[in-house]
Amino acid sequence: MTFVISGLSVSNGVAIGRALTISSASLEVDHRLIQEGEQEQELKRLYDAFAVAKKELIDLKNSLPEDAPEELGAFLEVHQLILDDPELQKKPIELIKKRRFNAAWALTTELDDLLDTFENIDDPYLRERGADFRQVIERVLVALQGSSSEDKTHLYKKLDRESSDVIIVAQDIAPHDMLRFKELNFCAFVTDLGGKNSHTAIVARSLDIPAAVGVKNASELIEQDDWLIVDGDRGIVIVDPPQIILEEYRHRQAEHRLAKNKLQLLKHTPTKTLDGVKITLMANIEMPEDAQDALAKGALGIGLFRSEFLFMNRLDGIPDEEEQYQAYCQTVISMHGMPVNIRTIDIGADKNLDTAVETITSDISPLGLRGIRWSLSEPDIFLAQLRAILRASAHGKAQILIPMLAQAREIEQTFELITRAKKQLDDRGIAYNPQIRVGAMIELPAAVFILPVFLKHFDFLSIGTNDLIQYTLGIDRADSSVAHLYDPLHPAILSMIYKVIYDCQELGKPVSICGEMAGDSKLTRLLIAMGLTDFSMHASQLLTVKRELLKSDMGKLKQSLRQILITYEPQIQAKLIADLSKI
Ligand code: PEP
Ligand code: MG
Repeated sequence: MTFVISGLSVSNGVAIGRALTISSASLEVDHRLIQEGEQEQELKRLYDAFAVAKKELIDLKNSLPEDAPEELGAFLEVHQLILDDPELQKKPIELIKKRRFNAAWALTTELDDLLDTFENIDDPYLRERGADFRQVIERVLVALQGSSSEDKTHLYKKLDRESSDVIIVAQDIAPHDMLRFKELNFCAFVTDLGGKNSHTAIVARSLDIPAAVGVKNASELIEQDDWLIVDGDRGIVIVDPPQIILEEYRHRQAEHRLAKNKLQLLKHTPTKTLDGVKITLMANIEMPEDAQDALAKGALGIGLFRSEFLFMNRLDGIPDEEEQYQAYCQTVISMHGMPVNIRTIDIGADKNLDTAVETITSDISPLGLRGIRWSLSEPDIFLAQLRAILRASAHGKAQILIPMLAQAREIEQTFELITRAKKQLDDRGIAYNPQIRVGAMIELPAAVFILPVFLKHFDFLSIGTNDLIQYTLGIDRADSSVAHLYDPLHPAILSMIYKVIYDCQELGKPVSICGEMAGDSKLTRLLIAMGLTDFSMHASQLLTVKRELLKSDMGKLKQSLRQILITYEPQIQAKLIADLSKI
């Protein structure tokens, strides 16, 4: 049956494919497509894991003390019966053979289906039996992880999203899982939850695939293998589309591809407005390897390296100074002398570490120990990161960027630690650039109001509009229920951005925007009207923004700015902004 569900568009384009529904349980295991021809080997791993789990159950039962309660023995027998039932392996075997899922993924897919079935049983006693299946499958999963090298041999299929027809459907995807999915071959994704500017959406945008978030109940309404159209332009999902709609969307897909190919022609064109103002376009990255894409799209540097992604998604503790140094070095060297702004760790809100650091016991709220607050509370970890960045500065133009500053005292403490990190390297006789430039993110309203303090201490500023909007309007950027109130054009936001750009330019201090507003081509002319000349965005957005810039006249656009800034009536303001496209 055809039906349409709608949410928020986070990444444009059209994808047509089959649903792969993923639950939070299955997100915890490694997902990868095995190579053609590896099915037999993967099946053997699955069978071996079943055998190990079975042996464990038998050993457990045999080692029960004589006075153990009878229920315990019965419980182990039930688990043994579940494990012996050939039905349990049937679907995972098929998924490995036909869809080339790795064994753990195939098993969790089966687990999700079973849990769904049990949840729909009215009888509470029977419903609870779902837990037995979960425990049995988890036992097999543990055996699988222990076997050969489930987590080590990442024989990922070469990325080829254009020809993939897998569309991920999940209730929610954490940013670090999204990052893991970068390795996978899927052509779009849909989630029940999430806001347009959540870190998950940001990472998805960097993959340049259509996506829709906040599509309420998508993971319940969509079934495994359903045919879907994801219309990323409108944020809608068409389930089980009829032929005629499919054809229309295939046509739109082809148009998108054509437009993308045309954009490639701009790659080497210098970025200048019609009236000759030179604009610097830089890229935002999450991992060192993203720098290649940035270069390929013609970025003139890395305006924001979200270094916290190096710290996430790890079971083996956080990266030490040496490992970070290697990662920063790799990035700096691949950017051939262009600036690389390495933002110090900004965990908290929707980005949390899932690794063992003693002081982190649970998620950090957006108003909690996020960003620089956490770094200052963990001086040893912060110093190690600063030393790693400093060491990388001996190999290229590494620059330090500090997130979430709001207080003069935090600025002082940050510089004290930078000085201490330099001294530690001096004592060890290790080279670094003593003149390394240090910048600050402007992403809290308080920072805008004490701008002179920032201007005094920092070499450059970068406006983080994602958080500036979140903290000014009091809107959780990851919450789809308030996404309609998350308004980059709110007069309070526009006047803050303009104030920062203006004050910086008055003093000749470099300023850029690295929040999502910078990569939204619908806002390019507005930012140019504000006098912005430095933008940083995901590489996938660079050429679209460049196309807009090449058609813009900064001098003329500036003349319309005053009226926009003093218009508080949303409809009139929207019209004034839309009219910029005619200038
Ligand atoms: C921002 O807040 O705009 C920003 C670029 O930082 P992040 O999105 O990583 O919070
Ligand atoms: Mg931020």
